[in-house]
Amino acid sequence: MADTLHDGAALDFPVLCGYLGPAMAIELDLSHRAPAAPTGAGPANLLGLGREGLRAAMIAAGVEEKKARMRAGQLWRWMYHYGVGDFSGMTDVAKEMRAKLGEHFYLARPAINAAQASVDGTRKWLVGYGPNVEAECVYIPDVGKAGALCVSSQVGCTLTCTFCHTGTQTLVRNLSAAEIVGQVMIARDALGEWPTSNENRLLTNIVFMGMGEPLYNLDNVVEAIDTIADGDGISISKRRITVSTAGVAPKIPELGKRTGAMLAISLHATNDDLRNELVPINRKYNLKELFDAIRAYPDLSNSKRVTFEYVMLKGVNDTLAEARDLVKLLKHVPAKINLIPFNPWPGAKYECSDWETIEAFAEVLNRAGYASPIRTPRGRDILAACGQLRSESVKERASERLARRLAEKEGSAP
Ligand code: SF4
Repeated sequence: MADTLHDGAALDFPVLCGYLGPAMAIELDLSHRAPAAPTGAGPANLLGLGREGLRAAMIAAGVEEKKARMRAGQLWRWMYHYGVGDFSGMTDVAKEMRAKLGEHFYLARPAINAAQASVDGTRKWLVGYGPNVEAECVYIPDVGKAGALCVSSQVGCTLTCTFCHTGTQTLVRNLSAAEIVGQVMIARDALGEWPTSNENRLLTNIVFMGMGEPLYNLDNVVEAIDTIADGDGISISKRRITVSTAGVAPKIPELGKRTGAMLAISLHATNDDLRNELVPINRKYNLKELFDAIRAYPDLSNSKRVTFEYVMLKGVNDTLAEARDLVKLLKHVPAKINLIPFNPWPGAKYECSDWETIEAFAEVLNRAGYASPIRTPRGRDILAACGQLRSESVKERASERLARRLAEKEGSAP
């Protein structure tokens, strides 16, 4: 169980893109495959909408304006507290109204294109939002209060952090708020956590550390957080929602003002030269600008600390001098540091630091008063490095296409 700082808010969370583990046995478990959302014109999907979106949908469907908020509230509770997937079970909504809703709308989770379960309890889903639009989310038990879901905010990424597998994939598009919320609903379905309970939950924390840079999709991330945190629905407190950025400095204070969520920084280097290489957005917003923005994050205190993620790369960023530089850099910032042993993915140009090196590095931080847990990698027996499952899926489609073309060729051969 991870240690916590305050109300379960802090995370010893060992996740960042490229972290979770190398490819080993691939066990596809499609037992939780959800129906794909219907495409084309016709009824609209309500699932994942925020309160305002739901109210607007009710009005568009002909519900009187003065009743629209009440109707939206009823739907809200059925969708996000009870997790229902159709209108028929909404027993406090009149039958005629249910029929009317069914004419205009439907409730569908995103498709699950692949699911994997690790022996250590880690679970991973490749979530499909349309042809070639797939993102990953990972449930990791025993982090945060009980377990955390790492969600994606974009399909692919525009940033090219050199240690990150997702950084090798081009950006397809931002995910909508509803699509982000859909990831949480899929995880809650699989964990059997409907209706929302305040006790003994398995999913207690959300971390935006999956595919993409959340601050490049801030409006949707803010709306998704509002929906996930709403106490009348999924009800995961904002103090248990952490948003991680590679360092989009101008948006950092805005994130805090608009969400009140916890902040994590994908740091990985203590000087601009090295960070320019590992996290290239540093060329745009260097360490000084980044730390000015972090200090402007609202309400930082010892009970609301910034999490700094530092991936341990052999011979690159792991000397004791760098550990001491890290301590200096974090001065006057309420901080905790997650040291993350690098898990190589195919084609990665880095290796993980030796265990003794990581321990010595952690010791310097501990002596300076920083909690700096080193986490045992999770999900090693599944394709858990962020972006790997999607890459496999893209490869699979390419080889299917090739096989089809070959078959067509053979079929047309004289
Ligand atoms: S910002 Fe993009 S490239 Fe960098 S670690 Fe996150 S997903 Fe990977």
